[in-house]
Parts: sequence; C-alpha cells; structure tokens
Amino acid sequence: MRLGGNAKYLLDITDAKMIGPAVDWAKERNLSVIMIGTGSNIVWTDAGFDGLVLVNKILGIDVQKPDENNAYYTIGSGENWDSVVKRTVDDGYGGLAELSAVPGTTGGTPVQNVGAYGRDVSETLSSLEAYDNNLRQLVTLKASDCQFGYRSSRFNGKDKGRFYITSVTFHVTKDAPKPPFYASLAEYFEQNGISDITTPAIRDAVMAIRRIKLPDPSVVNNNGSFFKNPIVKKEKMAQLIKDYPKIAHWENGAEFKLSAAWLIEHAGYADAHDPATGMATWAAQPLVLVNEHAKTTADLMAFKQKIMDAVNQKFGVVLTQEPETIGAHPVVEK
Ligand SMILES: Cc1cc2nc3c(=O)[nH]c(=O)nc-3n(C[C@H](O)[C@H](O)[C@H](O)COP(=O)(O)OP(=O)(O)OC[C@H]3O[C@@H](n4cnc5c(N)ncnc54)[C@H](O)[C@@H]3O)c2cc1C
Repeated sequence: MRLGGNAKYLLDITDAKMIGPAVDWAKERNLSVIMIGTGSNIVWTDAGFDGLVLVNKILGIDVQKPDENNAYYTIGSGENWDSVVKRTVDDGYGGLAELSAVPGTTGGTPVQNVGAYGRDVSETLSSLEAYDNNLRQLVTLKASDCQFGYRSSRFNGKDKGRFYITSVTFHVTKDAPKPPFYASLAEYFEQNGISDITTPAIRDAVMAIRRIKLPDPSVVNNNGSFFKNPIVKKEKMAQLIKDYPKIAHWENGAEFKLSAAWLIEHAGYADAHDPATGMATWAAQPLVLVNEHAKTTADLMAFKQKIMDAVNQKFGVVLTQEPETIGAHPVVEK
C-alpha cells in the first residue's frame, strides 16, 4: 500500500546463519523482531515498527529427482515466488502453476498457506526449514507439522512470530492436470478454445486472468485481496439464499464460503472511489483495495471500515482482513 511508518532497525538476511546473531542482538536490546519478505501482505501502522525488521533475501534452488515423474525443489525462502513457479513449469512439473504471479517471496507462501485458482501451496509443500525462536536453532518441519488451513497455518496462528522460514521444499510431479478445473480457468479454456490442458496452459491462463483482474503492485499500491471469503453455517446460508438468490457461494465441508467480492460489490462498493480517504476498490475486482492518494494507514483503515459496515448492514456478515497489520501500536479500529 506504500503507507505506514518506518522500522527502527532493518537488516537484510542473505544466509540462514545470520538469523541467530541478529536475534541475540535484538534480544539484548529488548527489541521486537520480525522477518518479512517483500511486504506484499502487510499493512504497516502509521507508528512504524519499533524493533528490528529482518528482510529475507536467502537465495538458492536445489532439485532432487528420485525418478522420472517426481522432483523435490528446495528453495531459499527469499527467492521470488513467481520465478520458482515458472522454473517448475518450464521443467515440466505441475502442482504450482495455479499459484503463478502471486507476488512475494517463497518463504511468505506457507505463512497464510497461499492459494489461488483452486490450489493451496500446502498441497505441494513437503517440508520447510526455519529458525525456531524458542529453541534458538534451525529446525525442519514436515507439511503435517504446519497446521495448514484456509489462509492459515501455525505461522500466522498459534506460533506466530516463533519461526523464521529459511527454505521450503516442494514435491512436484509430471502427472497431467486433471479436471474439474477451477471455474474461471475452465471458462478461460473454453473461451479460448484450449482443449489440451497442460501445466503450461494452466500457467498461461492464470497469468492472463490475473492481468485482467488484478493490479500490478509495482505500479498500483495494493495488498491483493483485502478480505477473506467469509465462512457461514448452513442456516445463515439458507437465509442469505432466500434474501439474495444470486449470492455467490461454494460448499466448504459442512459450511459455506461466500464470495467477499460479490458481497462488497452488492453493498455498493464496486469501483468505488472515496475522496475522503484517497482509497478505492479496483474496478475489475472489488476485493482489492487501492491506495490512490491516501496519506496514512488510518485513511486505509477508515475506508476498510466503511466497506465492512456496508456489508454487515446489508448481509449481516462480518468481513475479516486478509493482510496482516503490523506496527508498534495496534491501529485503533472501530
Ligand atoms: C496483487 C496481489 C495479489 C495477491 N494474490 C494473492 C493470491 O492470489 N493468493 C494469496 O494467498 N495471496 C495473495 N497475495 C498476498 C501475498 O502475495 C502473499 O501473502 C505472499 O505470500 C506474501 O509474500 P511476501 O514475501 O510479500 O510476505 P510479506 O508480506 O513480507 O509477509 C507476510 C507475512 O508473512 C511473514 N513472513 C514472510 N516471510 C517470512 C519468513 N521467511 N519466515 C517467517 N515469516 C515470514 C511476515 O512476517 C508477515 O507476517 C497477493 C498480494 C498482492 C499485492
């Protein structure tokens, strides 16, 4: 969003071995420490971060191929995520193509279990290495140790702040992609007459759809989807369908997931531009909030609150923020 205050201290981490001494240095001075990637999923408070920010720049790619069909890619967590996806696709492997063009580092992806076009990173993640702040050493965690859920994991849940991820290993295969494909992908293939659905075709489709739907964060200030898709119980879903027969929703186990974009649009915030805060919703995707000329994170939060209030008043559904707010003092929200 290009908003918020400064960090008191900041250090580029280019090697996992740098983390221990940096953490010790900060602890001696009673400073908070945080590791970040490119900050694409962070809202910084106006007060800034009154501690040490470790910026992850750990690089390196190692590939193990136990047989013709399977490969294990161990990726330095500071590697650009989309370059990693491209590399696996170029090498002929599927499993990550749906996650093309998600901004940020590879180490950022397990934190909220990055997902797009029907696939979550946890489906391909095999293990990761991290610096454990409790044990003060590097540890290896299997995917089953990471408590992955919808946009969640132990890294943004109960163990938030405990681990700094230094490398991630993905298990990818040459298996042909299998239908059914995510609705917008299927629609793209049909509209473009593509019947041979290969992994490169999936990557091309995702890139094309994302270019139309989402603003490029190097040009337009944004955090991607600003709200999670809300999950509601069966009774609430029945009521919503009765009142709004066209409401966009999916089954989610015994519960239902609502399209936050649909709710925002139908609460009157499609392509909305708010002169009071300098914030807007992106014309092609109202789930994306855009900083047009906001000056402070308080402006962003005020706009966010207007959208939340409108959705809650109309549908009785409370939206929750997807990007994390980080800073010395919590932003005061209504
Ligand atoms: C235009 C746009 C589109 C997006 N599309 C999607 C999408 O389709 N799906 C999706 O899931 N997300 C999406 N996002 C969100 C974002 O790209 C992802 O969450 C991404 O993984 C964040 O990576 P990052 O390196 O920028 O992490 P940051 O934003 O720097 O950090 C995010 C969180 O992870 C923590 N963290 C980062 N690196 C590490 C590490 N090495 N060890 C421990 N903790 C760490 C940080 O402390 C922070 O809590 C989008 C964002 C934008 C701007």
